[in-house]
Amino acid sequence: MARFIRLLSLIVTILWCTVSFAQNNRVTVVSSTTSANGTIRPECQDEAGLFIALTSKFPQPSNWHFVIVCDDPSWDEFVRKSGQYKPGVIVYGTTYVQSRVTYISGWRLLHPDTFSGAPTPARIVAHEIAHVVLKTEDDTKAEAQAAIWMRNADFTVSTINEAPKSAGQ
Ligand SMILES: [Zn+2]
Repeated sequence: MARFIRLLSLIVTILWCTVSFAQNNRVTVVSSTTSANGTIRPECQDEAGLFIALTSKFPQPSNWHFVIVCDDPSWDEFVRKSGQYKPGVIVYGTTYVQSRVTYISGWRLLHPDTFSGAPTPARIVAHEIAHVVLKTEDDTKAEAQAAIWMRNADFTVSTINEAPKSAGQ
């Protein structure tokens, strides 16, 4: 599964930053675009901050690598090149259990889809964390576990709004 990491780096390794958080997990942000001064765009850091804040609501994995793909074109390319593209199907995240890596569409965490039944950012994170904790690539199992966590988790508006402030820790 390391080939997916290489694949992604071919697509988007222009800028990246890595932050550590609990349990020896890592979050890497990748983006194909930069801000005017050549640094990673603040929006990418906000995505990582929101992701980390949301993961705190769920059981913590350990020794896992989360890759936040910051911008939409890069995510679309990842979806295509990882063989997941299907017309009309939106991919929000992908977990590869063997290689202990999860890719998340950072754009859709900050800009959630609004159509009826679209997953919230918390739901996207819960689903991928379920894959990780259950060590399964089975979507039905992950979705069932995510639903249980979502019923018990507390997602106040203030929590979500404050989340980007923790970016870059
Ligand atoms: Zn899934």
